[in-house]
Parts: sequence; C-alpha cells; structure tokens
Amino acid sequence: MPFVSQPSDLSYSQLLEQIRSGDIASLELVPARREVVAIFPDGTRRTVGIFLNDQQILRAAESSATPLTVKDIRQEQAMAGLLGNIGLVLIVVIGLSFLLRRSAQVANKALGFARSQPKVKPQDDLEVRFEDVAGINDAKQELEEVVTFLKQPETFIRLGAKIPRGVLLVGPPGTGKTLLARAIAGEAGVPFFSMAASEFVEMFVGVGASRVRDLFRKAKEKAPCIIFIDEIDAVGRQRGAGIGGGNDEREQTLNQLLTEMDGFEENSGVILLAATNRADVLDAALTRPGRFDRRIDVGLPDRKGRSSILAVHARTRPLDSSVDLDQWAQRTPGFSGAELANLMNEAAILTARQERNFITDDQLEGALERITMGLSARPLQDSAKKRLIAYHEIGHALVAALLPDANKLDKVTILPRGAAGGYTRFMPDEEKLDSGLITKASCRADLVVTLGGRAAEIVVFGPLEITQGASGDLQMVAQLAREMVTRFGFSGLGPVALEGPGTEVFLGRDWFSQRPGYAESTGTAIDESIRALAKQSLDQAVALLSPRRAVMDRLVEALIEEETLHHDRFMLLAGLA
Ligand code: ADP
Repeated sequence: MPFVSQPSDLSYSQLLEQIRSGDIASLELVPARREVVAIFPDGTRRTVGIFLNDQQILRAAESSATPLTVKDIRQEQAMAGLLGNIGLVLIVVIGLSFLLRRSAQVANKALGFARSQPKVKPQDDLEVRFEDVAGINDAKQELEEVVTFLKQPETFIRLGAKIPRGVLLVGPPGTGKTLLARAIAGEAGVPFFSMAASEFVEMFVGVGASRVRDLFRKAKEKAPCIIFIDEIDAVGRQRGAGIGGGNDEREQTLNQLLTEMDGFEENSGVILLAATNRADVLDAALTRPGRFDRRIDVGLPDRKGRSSILAVHARTRPLDSSVDLDQWAQRTPGFSGAELANLMNEAAILTARQERNFITDDQLEGALERITMGLSARPLQDSAKKRLIAYHEIGHALVAALLPDANKLDKVTILPRGAAGGYTRFMPDEEKLDSGLITKASCRADLVVTLGGRAAEIVVFGPLEITQGASGDLQMVAQLAREMVTRFGFSGLGPVALEGPGTEVFLGRDWFSQRPGYAESTGTAIDESIRALAKQSLDQAVALLSPRRAVMDRLVEALIEEETLHHDRFMLLAGLA
C-alpha cells in the first residue's frame, strides 16, 4: 500500500457525510497543505482539499468520534531541508579534501624525490651458495676469504689484517657477478643490500647523494653485511668527462660514495661489492687503495666451466641420460653463464610444450637455435629463392672446409630462422677462444669464409645477379678488416695501433680524445688497406669455388633435399671426408 495517499475523487460534502455516518476509521489533518486524509476501515486513504482553518471537518469528526490527528509537515520539511544541507556541506568538504590530497601528491612527487627513497631493504637468509656458482673458480676462491672474514672477523683483526673495503667485480654481462655477491651473503649468512647504480641518479641534484647516505647508514646498522652496487659505471665514470663537461648529479653521487667509503671504520663489517663491465671508464678515485682496492675479473667460462654451469642448471631439470653436457659445452663457445642458464630453460620449455618428461639433445638443439638465430620461420616455398640461399650458404661452408685455418663447420641449413633465410654455423676452435689469441691467418680465413656466400653467387649466377642478401656478411668483413688494419697490425701499414677499442663518448670518454691520432693521409691508407683486404678475400673465395662448380651443385641438391647438413655428411658429399 502506498504511504502517500492519492488525490481522490471524494468531494468535500461526501467526506463530511461519510465522517458523520461513521464510515471513516480515522482522519489526518495536514494544515500546511490544506488537506485532510481520510482513512477507511479497509485501510484505503483518500485525500480531500479543505479550507484554511476548516472548522466543519473538526466538528464532524468530533460529533462522530472519529479519531483525528494533526500532522505538522513543516517540521518534517525543516528536518529534510536540514539533512539536505548537511549532505551538501559534506559533499563539498569531501570533494575539497580529495582535491587537496591529489595536489599534495603531485607536489610530493615533483619535489619529494629525496624522501621517496627506493626501498633500501636488505635481503636476509639468501639461499644462494657457492655451489650454485660454477665455472669461475678463480673469482670464487678469492671471494671465499671475504666469507671467512664476515663469519669470523676476530681471526683477521687479531692478526692486524685489513680486509678490503671494496671489491670490484669486472666482467661481461651475465657471467655471474650478481650471483657471486649473493652467494657470499648466503654463505656468510649476512644481510644483502643490493642496488643498481642507475637508481641513485635522479633528475634533481643531491637526491643520489642522499640515497647513498641512506644506504650506508642502513647497512652500518645491520653490519656485518654486504652492499652490492650493480653497474657502478653509471655513477663511477670519470668526472668531468662527456660532452659539455660532466653531470652534476652523477658527480655529487660519486663524491658521496667516495666520502662514505672513506668514512668506514676499519673492519666495520660492511663489505662493498660492485660490478661493472667497463672498468676502463671508472674514475681513478674509485679504484685507489682504501676504496675498491681489490679487483676480481669474472670472465666468460671456458669449456669445462660451461659444462659445470650447465650441470648446475640441470640439477633442477629432468635431463635424459643420453645427454652429454660436455658436448653441449663444446658447442656453446663464448656463451656466458646467463646464456647457458637460458639454454637449459628454453630446452625445458620446449620439452614441456612437446609434452615429454625428459630433456633430450633434440630440445637442447632447438633451444640453441632459438637463442642464437631467433624463432624458426616457415620454410621457403619459392624454389628459385631457396636455391639462391642454398648456393650462398654452401659457398660459406665449402670455403671453410677448404681452408685449413678456418673454423670447423658445424652445420649448414636452409631452414629460416629469425631474419636469416638460411645459415651456416661454425664451431670456433676452443683453444683459440680460450687463449684469447687470434692469428693473422685465422683472421684472413674468416674474411674469406664470410665472403664465401657472395663468391658463390658470383660463380653460379654471374656478377650481375648477386643479391643484397650478403649485406650482413659485408658488415662483418668491414669490421674485422678495420680491426686487422688499425688495431692488430695485420696489414702493410705496419705494427702500429691506430685506433683503440671502441670508446664511445657517452660511456665516459672525452669528446676531444676521440680524434684519431693519425694524419689524414694515414686515414686514406687505412681505408685503402681495408678495401684491399676485402677484395683479396673475395677473389680468393671465388678462386676456391669456381673450379668446384660440380661439387657445389651436388651439395646444393642435397641441402635442398635434406634441409640441414651436419659436418660429417657435408664432408662426405663434398668428397673431403
Ligand atoms: P651478471 O651480474 O654478471 O650480469 P648474473 O649474476 O645476474 O650476471 O647472472 C644471471 C644468471 O645467470 C644467474 O642468476 C644464473 O642463473 C646464471 N649464471 C650466470 N653465471 C653463472 C655461473 N657462473 N654459474 C651458474 N649460473 C650462472
């Protein structure tokens, strides 16, 4: 039943009559609206308009003893009005405070960098141990001493030995520098503070410095502990270097870092580890005694190292008993620890996708291809293009097989991967790689092999039908030939280093020191030597391939048929086995 009575068709006189005859149960008078509501015994309500100060209704009600109540809606209206007003005020207040809070947040963000510290929180109870780090035994041994110090500092202090305050880990990315630092903290059971140096550098001058202070203050509270600063070259570059002088913020941060390191009490128990792959650009003040005075090189792992790193990462993955990790270590020269970990992981993913239970050589092979060459693409349908790619790749492979100083062929394939329509893979000579020494003969062989693809196109399709498919090869040739001439002294220009290794100005070298240190005529001579080397190499490749057209045709037929030729099969078909 609706609470509000409906205006009714009941007339005033009818109402009076019904009141008098006692048909109405009760009456509600609403003077403010000049209305009376008649409520019938069945509950129906009817509203009838009345006069101002109507006496008739009152008298009728009195005479028939009908209960009559007077409703003062003004009070109700006043209450409703009041509530409405309070609501409005509340909405305004809430809206205002929301706006104020928002603008305060924006202001904080813009101006409160110093206070918005990145989380300087130590990690306790790290589960990484030295046994999780493989293949870099020298570095590990050096750092074991640090663990002993953190565990039993008294032994060292009693003998008056000073423990290095800062250890600089130098090596290419992914070789396990972070892992080593974590392993030290894990072995010694001490808190581990880790930060990337780039986190120190902010838009506002002084923020980085305050972060450094904060980091060291927190670390001292938790001593003994380890602070690890990754990519220290981001703040530790030579001061005053770069285009237009230095960067104030970075320099202040570096100064603060130096100050904090000086402020360490001897044997305070805080050991600072930092990692970089550009030790050459670090400010000399950082590496002087008393600061990062110990430098540990963490290089790429050798074959044995790679095998043990693979073993570490195979511990948690079901490996088929047929897999020989040594052989995989042999096939992954130049891989870093992180890349080997990635190889194992990709193989595990592939195994899961193929719904198998154990990782076999097949999955490792797939993972290796994926990492080195990118995702596999759909095989080519266009047979003319396929044939051209096949000749190009066979050109590389055959030249390599014919040159005693070239790397050993691993396989040649026309299955496209990544951007390559096909590719030839070599197995670099392990000894050469480990010793880090490259002979002039092997450099020249590399040039000839790299140009073998272009040579095959010339021999088979003629000088006008060569393609731009060799552009990647040409870039490699230009780079290697330039290094041979300007850095290794492998050319007629004599044993002079005319250029250093790539020193980009943005990595902390001065713009002006970039000017070549030779005369213009020497520059011309360099260009000529590079071009001569490339030309000779192409001629040599063409000379090797032209008399062997029949062998090439045979190999190309086999390659198109079988898609991939491994070393032994290739040598057999080439008649070189
Ligand atoms: P870096 O700090 O030198 O760039 P990381 O320590 O971050 O390299 O290495 C990344 C990952 O690669 C590690 O978490 C680990 O899984 C793997 N890894 C790298 N080097 C090794 C190694 N020597 N032994 C075992 N695993 C390694």
